[in-house]
Amino acid sequence: MELSKLAKNLKPSATLAITAKAKEMKSQGIDVIGFGAGEPDFDTPDNIKDFAKRFIDNGFTKYTAAGGIPELKNSIIERISKDYNVNYEPKEIFVGSGAKHVLYNLFQVLINEGDEVIIPAPYWVSYPEQVRIAGGTPVIIHTLQENNFKFSSIELENAITSKTKILVLNYPSNPTGSTLNERELKQIAEIVKKHNLIVVSDEIYDKILYENNKHISFVQLDDEIKKQTILINGVSKTYSMTGWRIGYAAGDPSVISAMGNLSGQSTSNPTSISQKAAQEAFSGSQDEVGKMVEEFESRRNFICNELNKIYGIKCSIPDGAFYVFPDISSFFGKSYNGKEIKNSVDFTNFLLDEALVAVVPGVEFGSDKNIRISYATSIVDIREGVRRIKEKVDKYWS
Ligand SMILES: *Cc1c(COP(=O)(O)O)cnc(C)c1O
Repeated sequence: MELSKLAKNLKPSATLAITAKAKEMKSQGIDVIGFGAGEPDFDTPDNIKDFAKRFIDNGFTKYTAAGGIPELKNSIIERISKDYNVNYEPKEIFVGSGAKHVLYNLFQVLINEGDEVIIPAPYWVSYPEQVRIAGGTPVIIHTLQENNFKFSSIELENAITSKTKILVLNYPSNPTGSTLNERELKQIAEIVKKHNLIVVSDEIYDKILYENNKHISFVQLDDEIKKQTILINGVSKTYSMTGWRIGYAAGDPSVISAMGNLSGQSTSNPTSISQKAAQEAFSGSQDEVGKMVEEFESRRNFICNELNKIYGIKCSIPDGAFYVFPDISSFFGKSYNGKEIKNSVDFTNFLLDEALVAVVPGVEFGSDKNIRISYATSIVDIREGVRRIKEKVDKYWS
């Protein structure tokens, strides 16, 4: 059958190829250590699961409003107010089937053919693809590890043209873990106001931040900025609820309403039970979050320390999220078993074939000098994984 232009231009994911290879190796009984996962390894907290079970038993199992139930919208509003002292109304909240779906709807309702969307790299893999699917043009600002993966005001100004409509921010960042401080956010805000840009601020790792770093939401800077920003968040990362599929957007009511209309004609509501679970996640006890973050922090310290002991690997200590994004470019031009390493995919294959460790190549995130290692896995696996990497690097090169 003849596929649409859209389908033909969809980019197959190199991550999926690596994941598939790792899975196949595992199914053959090969003991692969997985550092690829983009989700917490903890179980969803009991209070959330129990709350959801009650609503299954109560028959809360029918269609709901396409853009989310009022009770969940209220708990989102309360959460944002408690965390950032910023107030929203229910008509300014859209709930979708995960933050990914929310972002998809958002780009669909904002972007016209040819609109430019500025995305700082390294970026979360789906931003450029979702922008392209909506007919927009991603404009990438490349950042450097030496600068903690931050862009300057000048670089931002230089990326702006008459076609620029949106700036995407994601901090703490997936994949780098880098975050932005108040001074940096204010600098960005000045430029955003000057050029009247829409900011899509993906703050899904807002709670996963280390060493008393305090997250400042872009919407709390001032009223004008709040009006120009669509805040994105969800339950997947903070509450270890990736499979429940609940995310939200907060912002301009006309945008929110359009997103609801789009869901109304495509997915309908996010799962009723999941909405109840998310309501409890935002409104119930937040104690489990602190425990998870504490555990992540000790893993982060361990893995960075160990990786930096390995010849040729340069790992910066991330501020938040649960990934490290080390530079592995010093291996480019080196060979093993007659195979030359030319890029991050080659190095990823080296790690998988030789060390039996699965990571994600940086090229997927717009930075071919790096690999992404998720430490959302047990400390036992982390210890064994880095030991294997060191062993194979030592064997061939150091
Ligand atoms: C995981 C992730 C998302 C998507 O999360 P959902 O599971 O769809 O809610 C969005 N943005 C970033 C940066 C992520 O890492």
